Amino acid sequence: MQELTHYINGEHVKGTSGRFSDVFNPATGEVQAKCPLASKEELDAAVEIAAAAQPAWEAVNPQRRARVMMKFVDLLNRDMDKLAEALSREHGKTFPDAKGDVQRGLEVVEYCIGAPQMLKGEFTDSAGPGIDMYSMRQALGVTAGITPFNFPAMIPMWMFAPAIACGNAFILKPSERDPSVPLMLAELMEEAGLPKGILQVVNGDKESVDAILYNDTIQSVGFVGSTPIAEYIYGTGCAQGKRVQCFGGAKNHMIIMPDADLDQAADALIGAGYGAAGERCMAISVAVPVGKDTADKLIEKLIPRVETLKVGPYTAGDDVDYGPVVTGAAKANIERLVQTGVDQGADLVVDGRNFSLQGYEDGFFVGPSLFDNVTTDMDIYKQEIFGPVLSTVRAETYEEALSYAMDHEYGNGTAIYTRDGDTARDFANRINIGMIGINVPIPVPLAYHTFGGWKKSAFGDLNQHGPDAFKFYTRTKTITSRWPSGIRQGGEFNFKPMD
Ligand code: NAD
Repeated sequence: MQELTHYINGEHVKGTSGRFSDVFNPATGEVQAKCPLASKEELDAAVEIAAAAQPAWEAVNPQRRARVMMKFVDLLNRDMDKLAEALSREHGKTFPDAKGDVQRGLEVVEYCIGAPQMLKGEFTDSAGPGIDMYSMRQALGVTAGITPFNFPAMIPMWMFAPAIACGNAFILKPSERDPSVPLMLAELMEEAGLPKGILQVVNGDKESVDAILYNDTIQSVGFVGSTPIAEYIYGTGCAQGKRVQCFGGAKNHMIIMPDADLDQAADALIGAGYGAAGERCMAISVAVPVGKDTADKLIEKLIPRVETLKVGPYTAGDDVDYGPVVTGAAKANIERLVQTGVDQGADLVVDGRNFSLQGYEDGFFVGPSLFDNVTTDMDIYKQEIFGPVLSTVRAETYEEALSYAMDHEYGNGTAIYTRDGDTARDFANRINIGMIGINVPIPVPLAYHTFGGWKKSAFGDLNQHGPDAFKFYTRTKTITSRWPSGIRQGGEFNFKPMD
């Protein structure tokens, strides 16, 4: 049994709390490693190391800091297969999907190579007689991030790359379900030239999260995960005077208009609904066909596609559409929710429960389920299932379809399939959701734009990556400067406009 470590001050360090959690191989159901769960003392000790190392790193000029990011990109590409393999082994996602996880993080690292440009301040020459005014963006100091299991490479990189490019030290508390890739990323950052203590990985659970929230040295906290925890971290972190951004759960609707190409829409729903076993915050979990004819035809097209999805371990290569879910508890919860859908009157047209794969009977595999005639009062509609389950809610009109997406408490992503530009434009304008796809099922913005939802899907006022990340990980200082050659006048007692 492998005992995983923390990564502190450039070393793999064993946990000392005596507490561990199991890391499974979701394909076999076996426990493959033990993840140490840090105590408050272990977290605080890492923060002290970070605080000691950070001023020297902030003093390194931004171009040199960017060169570490450049080298890190090379190393990510060099080790892409190794990282993706470790990721699939703990998470369960397919090998190509695991590479995508690394790739979408790598792209944010590439964006951070532009740190010197992003960190340039503003300058006003002669804001008054002999007066210049300028602002600069300075690092916060020690920052921290708490990340979910479903993107163990991408989301840590979305946080630590901009934080570190801005001159901060970063404490990463990854998901205890798949901590190996975050540890590998920290090693690679050091190989790329990052000084010790600037990126440290402290594994843990609620105890280490609380230690982050109540540590006075930590200036900012980024969180991605489920909404109840996001609300807790946002409230607690803000009350402790920290800068906090938290990204939560989702229930993403895709509206299918009567004029849409239904084969395209059905293919899009299959990829977006069942890819990564539905364990994506940008997965489509609700299909909203408009009109009875659209709904009937769509269901007819979806059923054979859902029934022929190939579910299996990542080791089966390209022959697999999606893998197991992350834990036995996740599998049980998904199957429980499917049963509530049946009990509450939805039509389960494809039942993915009781799925078994020869040779992998103990793996956490869940077959794909498809519901029709789901209504908004059902648990399968209200709750995030985070599994391979697609619910169909039928709407009579476009306005009714729009209202479903707008009235749902989550607001991460949404999509519309139509051939009518006017409808698409109206949809993009009126919808109260953060990321919109027009004939694009999973509209994840690229690294140089920003990522974030609305409503209960995000807390805080800045998004992840893109220009917002450079704002989140720095604070502005504005200097008004005058160099008079002698004392020309007495004290001024009133605010007055610049002459
Ligand atoms: P989770 O909320 O269970 O865990 C996220 C992190 O919080 C982990 O590091 C975990 O150790 C920690 N945590 C768990 N319980 C805690 C507690 N009681 N107190 C303090 N910390 C705690 O989420 P998950 O299951 O790892 O990830 C799936 C969730 O993340 C889904 O809801 C998904 O929609 C969401 N997600 C959102 C986005 C987004 O950008 N909006 C992206 C990816 C995932």
